[in-house]
Amino acid sequence: MKQTPETAFSHRHLLGIEGLSPIDITTILDLAGGYVDQSRRVHKTSDLLNGLTVINLFFENSTRTRTSFEAAAKRLGADVINMTVAASSIKKGETLIDTAMTLNAMHPDVLVVRHGNSGAVRLLSEKVDGAVINAGDGRHEHPTQALLDALTIRRRLGKIGGLTVAICGDVAHSRVARSNIQLLQTMGARVRLIAPPTLLPAKAERFGVEVFTDMREGLQDVDIVMMLRLQLERMQGAFVPSVREYFRFFGLDREKLSYAKPDALVMHPGPMNRGVEIDSELADDIDRSLIREQVEMGVAIRMACLDLLTRPLRETGAP
Ligand code: ASP
Repeated sequence: MKQTPETAFSHRHLLGIEGLSPIDITTILDLAGGYVDQSRRVHKTSDLLNGLTVINLFFENSTRTRTSFEAAAKRLGADVINMTVAASSIKKGETLIDTAMTLNAMHPDVLVVRHGNSGAVRLLSEKVDGAVINAGDGRHEHPTQALLDALTIRRRLGKIGGLTVAICGDVAHSRVARSNIQLLQTMGARVRLIAPPTLLPAKAERFGVEVFTDMREGLQDVDIVMMLRLQLERMQGAFVPSVREYFRFFGLDREKLSYAKPDALVMHPGPMNRGVEIDSELADDIDRSLIREQVEMGVAIRMACLDLLTRPLRETGAP
């Protein structure tokens, strides 16, 4: 079989951006471009994954990511089963493996998994036969979010390499930040982190990024301002004096955006806390904000990932 760049994608699972090469990332983004077109048609469904089963296994709450994976799988003609597990904090490890083994006996071809513990999705991938996609594990990785962000940026600005991207806010608790730092750097972008010291990971410079604790300084000459949600559910104790205070110093409004390049664009992975990390009116400004486009790109990226990971199965009939 001729090796096109697409068929060269050789990963069994998608557990993180870590380990993906620039070619892997470009392959996913290129393929997703076609799925954007398919998703804009009136008749959106193809039969590519007919007969295959995708299980969405979510141990943490999610609206948009689960729906996005569901739409992606259905658009490719797969059968989709959604399973949401309320994780009891003590039995989490046990529940994870038990659930994985039960589901594995149902022969899913792809398991899309979200879990509150970093590393849990990898553990699960070692126990099951199908391909596993990490839909977010603790503070660790959320690879499809970084990929959809990359597709959004590439479609709007025509490139990723050479851009300066500021990731702002609750970096310490954010898997989106971790996946984005890796992807953006792999593709040749410069990454800055801007956050109060309490919301920065320890020794943040080790990621090879520039670190700022002041929005005015950090946003200078930035092409993309990526805001993060203040993840109160992951905080034990108060990391910020008050939400009002936080907005004043770190919430993105037009004034702070004016420190960046004149045409700088705004992103947010959702769900947004309007008026906390981002000004509501700015979030809805279609000239500056890419937030709605990010959601659209999410479905296309997930279609591309489902397509690539099931290719060995579809081409040879074996995993
Ligand atoms: N939806 C993203 C995640 O699952 C971002 C967030 O929740 O703030 O990590």
